Amino acid sequence: MARKEARIIVTLACTDCKSRNYVTSKNRIKQQARLELQKYCSRGTCQKHTLHREAK
Ligand SMILES: [Zn+2]
Repeated sequence: MARKEARIIVTLACTDCKSRNYVTSKNRIKQQARLELQKYCSRGTCQKHTLHREAK
């Protein structure tokens, strides 16, 4: 039953404070590079939009 899923769940972590703030999904066939998105970080000293990168 373990068929390969095209869309996988990825975690986005703030590159400043390393907090894992967001969970999203991506199509691993079309999007093989690491995701990088500007997202609002509400943790600690950030309180602003920072670059969030896919965490493994
Ligand atoms: Zn942060």
